[in-house]
Amino acid sequence: MISVGEALQIIEGNAVCGDVISIPITEALGYVLAETAISKINMPPFRQSAMDGYAINILPNIDKYILKGEIKAGDSHSYELKPGEAIRIFTGASVPKTANAVVMQEKVNRLDDAKISLQESPIIEQNIRPKGEQCTVGQEVVLPKTYLNPAALSYLVSVGVNEVKVYSKPKVAIVVTGSELIDINTPYQDGKIYESNSILLKSELLKLGIKDITVLKVEDNYEATKKTLQNALSVNDVVLVSGGISVGDYDFVGKALKSLGTKELFYKIKQKPGKPLFFGKNNNSFVFGLPGNPASALTCYYMYVLPLLKKYIGYSDIHLNRKHLSISHDYMVKGIRAQFLKAVVEGKEVTVMHQQSSAMISAFIDANAYIYLPEFSEELKKNDSVEVILF
Ligand code: AMP
Ligand code: MG
Repeated sequence: MISVGEALQIIEGNAVCGDVISIPITEALGYVLAETAISKINMPPFRQSAMDGYAINILPNIDKYILKGEIKAGDSHSYELKPGEAIRIFTGASVPKTANAVVMQEKVNRLDDAKISLQESPIIEQNIRPKGEQCTVGQEVVLPKTYLNPAALSYLVSVGVNEVKVYSKPKVAIVVTGSELIDINTPYQDGKIYESNSILLKSELLKLGIKDITVLKVEDNYEATKKTLQNALSVNDVVLVSGGISVGDYDFVGKALKSLGTKELFYKIKQKPGKPLFFGKNNNSFVFGLPGNPASALTCYYMYVLPLLKKYIGYSDIHLNRKHLSISHDYMVKGIRAQFLKAVVEGKEVTVMHQQSSAMISAFIDANAYIYLPEFSEELKKNDSVEVILF
């Protein structure tokens, strides 16, 4: 049995980035950039009006200008203004070469069809966005390891980038074991349990933008477990097995993985919940044997599976954030293993939730953090400083 810290080190030591692939920008939400993106154009591509108003070529000490025409957003034109001339212009339109100010329409009096007067003297280059103000053609605009959020996609499109090199996402199988498990769309049967880990794990994977997910279900039978795992391992980058990894007579996952030549990287961590977690590698596929109890499975997912997946997807920061906060109440610590207590952080305080049992997922609905208690922790007193892991 290893410590939480050792397990995390083993995860980190084995985690790898996914292959670099080229994808259309329209599909790139939630991917992480693997290669620098280069602007294909100047942005803005031309001197651009920032206002609805009048572009002018300033004639010092004169407030009346001769109106020459109109330029709308999107117009291509070759207007050149002489000093003392103006042109009607709108936001986003290209400013004539010799214009050196745009006056907003609220500061202009329209005298007649061919003349305007200015209410205040213009300042040179006012309300004109210089060509290339945001970035210039060939410039490195978004750096590797950037998470492609909506703003990043918008920026890249605005500068003409239609394809990006990103880290691929893993293909993941969820293998659910347990003869007691029934599907939610069947009437309840005595002695059975509604199978809820697949929706739990799949939903977490979807949050990471992982879409290639296969769910396989198998009864507690050695041969069937072996066959299902073999199939899952042969075509997936990561296999998450739920249940069957403990020491019961009908827990076949460990034995089946071993017989398939899986290399054990660790098995069993001095922690509560989630003691029987297994982590291994089969050829190039990673496999986690997660405990079947839903809260244990999710704890192990957040602490150990998530960093591996984040590394694969290309995140630079793969671990959950930690900080120290004071606990809002006394708490009796039971047991000597390290513990992850589901908790709520509010402001500078943290409160342990009810229903800490590893069989109960409900506390996770409102929890936003673990209180992490190292091995051999003792009783906690209100206002004690505790380590908190945010998720
Ligand atoms: P195991 O790790 O297979 O010994 O399972 C531990 C506990 O978790 C048992 O009470 C199982 O019924 C429950 N369990 C295992 N897998 C699931 C699942 N997919 N959905 C809901 N409960 C499960
Ligand atoms: Mg089981």
